[in-house]
Amino acid sequence: MDTIRSSFFWRGDSDRDKYHMIKWENVCLPKDFGGLGIINTWVMNESLLLKWVWRLLQNSRDDKGVTFSVNNGRSVRFWQDVWILDIPLRLAFLGLYEKAEKKSCLVHECVEEGELKMSFRRTLNTVDMQNWENLLQLVANIRLNEAEDTPKWMFEKSNQYSTKSMYRWMTHRGVVNKRMRRVWDSRLPMRIKVFMWLTFNNRLQTGVELKKRKWKDSHLCGICGCPETTDHILFTCCVARFVWACFTEALAWDRAPRSLNDFLDTWILLGCRDYNLKLFLFASVLWGLWTTRNKRAIEGKFPRSPTDVLFKIHAFLQRWRVRLRNEDQAKLANLEGQVRSWTEEFLLQLRGRPPDEDFL
Ligand SMILES: [Zn+2]
Repeated sequence: MDTIRSSFFWRGDSDRDKYHMIKWENVCLPKDFGGLGIINTWVMNESLLLKWVWRLLQNSRDDKGVTFSVNNGRSVRFWQDVWILDIPLRLAFLGLYEKAEKKSCLVHECVEEGELKMSFRRTLNTVDMQNWENLLQLVANIRLNEAEDTPKWMFEKSNQYSTKSMYRWMTHRGVVNKRMRRVWDSRLPMRIKVFMWLTFNNRLQTGVELKKRKWKDSHLCGICGCPETTDHILFTCCVARFVWACFTEALAWDRAPRSLNDFLDTWILLGCRDYNLKLFLFASVLWGLWTTRNKRAIEGKFPRSPTDVLFKIHAFLQRWRVRLRNEDQAKLANLEGQVRSWTEEFLLQLRGRPPDEDFL
């Protein structure tokens, strides 16, 4: 069996395929990767490794391993390939992509001297227009030339393929993938699944991320002036800390999540009890924080009170709850009720509270 597989891996009839050739012993040899026992236990056993290698061989374009250097722009798809960012533009500019007339247009068909030629099926709203501006900025410096576009591997600085880097990449993706599979399989609305994907992969368009792509506006949080990272928006900004503190109090948690890593490592472990319930609860908190941030950063609308964010989250929970299984629905309704009554109590106290003495 292994001989058949390895001869298969060595085959390859175009230049492109040479990128994917792997010595089977190397793929199977975990010795150098002592810390990555996970590969043996589930990647190997479930033959996921083989699946991945298959996918790389067959359809590397859709995978995150390949990125393109654009020259004449004739073989790279504008929205679907990875070329200007480290993710496809369809994911970075979801709203625009959904409205774009030609989803699989090639770069040379729509980029000309740093300008974009593109038509949309529907009119663009305010958020789309903002994104359109960002997209224009991104391509402003693109100049096509006569040379062929070239694929390259993202793993290594030299862009040379190596088994070791591929191994590392697959392990990382393996963990993320397994987690993401749960999210894709869940009954969350599609845009929330995509949002969770972007969050888990640290790909949200935060100020700091936009700055890396030559964004002209400030990369600082508009509320507290800290660099605006994913962790900041979702965990450490004062708005986020307030929201998490409320949940911590209302649901009697020991503590609040501190960062995305903390969150993924200890709050929503794969295989934990009530996984779907937690996923829905946390997704609505994260989505509530993210949309609040966008309202503020893009539309300039500040919440009147930090509790507005709680009501927003509550509304999401109510809307999405019906998608859960009956028993989970009941559990979620219960949690939601606890948070709501805590918030109402909090507001009452806030209203009845006399001003601080030094204020008078
Ligand atoms: Zn902040």
